[in-house]
Amino acid sequence: MKVLIIGGGLIGAVIAYKLADEGVKTTLLEARFYTYGSTGRSTGSLTAQQRKPELVREALESMELLQEVKRVGCEERVPFACRMMDDESPHIAVARNEEEFDELRELASVWREGGAEVIEYRDPNRLMDLLPILNTLRIYGAYVTPKDLKVMPHPLTWNYIALARLRGAETHTKAKVTSLRTRHDTVEAITEDGRKFKSDAVVIAGGAASLKFVKELGEELRTEVTPRAAAGFVTEPFKYKHKPTVRVFRESYRFLQTVRSEYVVTIDDLGWGNTELSVEDNLDFLIKASKITVDLLPSMEYVNVLRAWGAYNDFTADGYPVIGWSRKYNGKIYYAFGFNDYGLSAGQSIAEKAAEEIVKGTEEPGLSKFRP
Ligand SMILES: Cc1cc2nc3c(=O)[nH]c(=O)nc-3n(C[C@H](O)[C@H](O)[C@H](O)COP(=O)(O)OP(=O)(O)OC[C@H]3O[C@@H](n4cnc5c(N)ncnc54)[C@H](O)[C@@H]3O)c2cc1C
Repeated sequence: MKVLIIGGGLIGAVIAYKLADEGVKTTLLEARFYTYGSTGRSTGSLTAQQRKPELVREALESMELLQEVKRVGCEERVPFACRMMDDESPHIAVARNEEEFDELRELASVWREGGAEVIEYRDPNRLMDLLPILNTLRIYGAYVTPKDLKVMPHPLTWNYIALARLRGAETHTKAKVTSLRTRHDTVEAITEDGRKFKSDAVVIAGGAASLKFVKELGEELRTEVTPRAAAGFVTEPFKYKHKPTVRVFRESYRFLQTVRSEYVVTIDDLGWGNTELSVEDNLDFLIKASKITVDLLPSMEYVNVLRAWGAYNDFTADGYPVIGWSRKYNGKIYYAFGFNDYGLSAGQSIAEKAAEEIVKGTEEPGLSKFRP
């Protein structure tokens, strides 16, 4: 069997690794460079704080997979594999008033239902034990998932791609697929520069750009998928080293200190979509995010912002990703996108199950709610 994957983000990389590991002849095409999309612009938290119990379960499984793929990468001497993550990084979801706290309480029951350990903090001062620099005067209460992880998204993806290549996968950057032609028993992908790749099946893992193919193929999806703008910035390294990640759910802000000590601050949803996926200047985000950062972490006031970016996430109306064979082109086109704001957290185990379905021709019951 010969499978072609479109997209060199985390999802395409995991699928390439698993397929190659199973002996499938695998080719991955990436339009720009690996991690160019949402993956390379994400915060890097692997958290059980998901909105659906199924996704909490996938996130918990992904955390185990992450430990495993780090071990494999280290053993096989992939240069960046050994230092790509921190062990255990409690994820603090803060509420700034009673209403937010009630909302969080409901979410926390979903996290528990999915199997996560959750600790309630009614007294915000107790959070100082976890993160002494937190401005608890601004916090009403919090819920913490203590067993979460944080990871560097680039080395994570490169590790999967390097391992796929060690198992014989062919991977190309600067290979933007502009059209797909389905024939009787093959699919042909044509790149911008005119290269043609024939395979038995194509996996569409192009993140927010996947929609272009869905439209061209004339497929009706289970749920509406819309690109939503996200943004982030990174600071210079901040001397005080700590593990917890802080999240303000209501406004979808995340604050995380990376393994290299710099601070990454992101927002998953700026509240506007853009079908052109253009990444525009975002001074508004920088100003708002800086203010909220200093409000919650006052000692960040004198830390410089070094770089900012924009990105697109592919949000689904029902909150589940789009995973499985096309109904129109069953056995030829496989969809793997729609990861909202949780692709790093839940994506690895979902992508691994997807690869298994492709290889074995079976249906993974765990993916039943995610069908295209
Ligand atoms: C600011 C921000 C913060 C985030 N923080 C977190 C977090 O902390 N935790 C978490 O779990 N999730 C987080 N996310 C979400 C997470 O990053 C995504 O869900 C995940 O990375 C999606 O991976 P992907 O491989 O599906 O898509 P992408 O990473 O977007 O990869 C798709 C790839 O396909 C390529 N491509 C597109 N079209 C073509 C084509 N025609 N031909 C060839 N290649 C093509 C693109 O160039 C891209 O590299 C965050 C996202 C953002 C933007």
